[in-house]
Amino acid sequence: MNAPLRLTNLCKQYGGTLVVDGLDLELEAGRCHGLLGPNGAGKTTTLRLALGLIGADAGTVELLGHPMPADAALARRKVGVVPQVDSLDPDFTVRENLHTYGRYFGMKGAEIEARIPDLLDFSGLNGKADAPILTLSGGMKRRLTLARALVNDPDLVFLDEPTTGLDPQARHLIWQGLRRLIARGKTLLLTTHFMDEAERLCDVISVIDHGRVIVRGSPRELIASNIEPHVVEIYGDGLAEWKACASDFCRRCEQAGETLFCYTEAPERVVAELATRPGLRYLHRPANLEDVFLKLTGRDLRD
Ligand code: ADP
Repeated sequence: MNAPLRLTNLCKQYGGTLVVDGLDLELEAGRCHGLLGPNGAGKTTTLRLALGLIGADAGTVELLGHPMPADAALARRKVGVVPQVDSLDPDFTVRENLHTYGRYFGMKGAEIEARIPDLLDFSGLNGKADAPILTLSGGMKRRLTLARALVNDPDLVFLDEPTTGLDPQARHLIWQGLRRLIARGKTLLLTTHFMDEAERLCDVISVIDHGRVIVRGSPRELIASNIEPHVVEIYGDGLAEWKACASDFCRRCEQAGETLFCYTEAPERVVAELATRPGLRYLHRPANLEDVFLKLTGRDLRD
């Protein structure tokens, strides 16, 4: 099957700076793909190029088999978009918002109406069809934005930080919805700053920085091939003394604020040594995607 999205040697510059710099990305159908990167890495610009909202300076975009941006209108008929910021019409009800959106795709009123029960059920908004948007909670609005992106029964759904600003309960509901979409064979492209979200949902992750893909793989592959398997986070009195001799016990250490992160294959040695230092406290855990992300893109703040 053709890749739902293929970006080849894509370049885009703003004001003389290459913000997308020879980026290659190919999605596999029916999979959830994550696009991770620090602020300013070029994620949003890449999504906008992929959707044909802006043109590239070099390289090619093929969306659902269509060259972009030339065939943007045609390709986008089978694409759903969940934007970072909700753009629901506050003066309309849930049903009216779904109708307005469906009409963008040239759908008839009856066709949209027939899809509404399934969309409301999918998003856990049963009984809310006639509720004004102003009466919905933040979580409900996000779920409606997701339902709205599905009104045209897309094959590929772009999700730009779909759970930012939501509480844990609301995030779990969104994740449940996204898993159902994957089970239905949809292809997802997700940007997120939550590494746990990417680790839970994504089959394949591409980490981008400075406008290029720097690594690609499943969450498990990325962890296995980029980082030591165990982390001991250490803090408390005597950290400086411990740090001075840490290289005797662990392979690599990084300090962030008051905490020292010790990366190691053999956590027993670190933990045994820590037991002799009562002023220090520690947390021993398996390495995760956030550790990989910070190793590859650094701990410095990007504004
Ligand atoms: P991300 O989504 O990874 O945070 P963006 O793609 O939004 O990154 O931005 C990448 C860089 O391109 C940033 O430095 C941003 O300021 C710049 N940029 C994005 N869009 C524009 C624009 N329309 N005009 C000028 N600079 C832009």
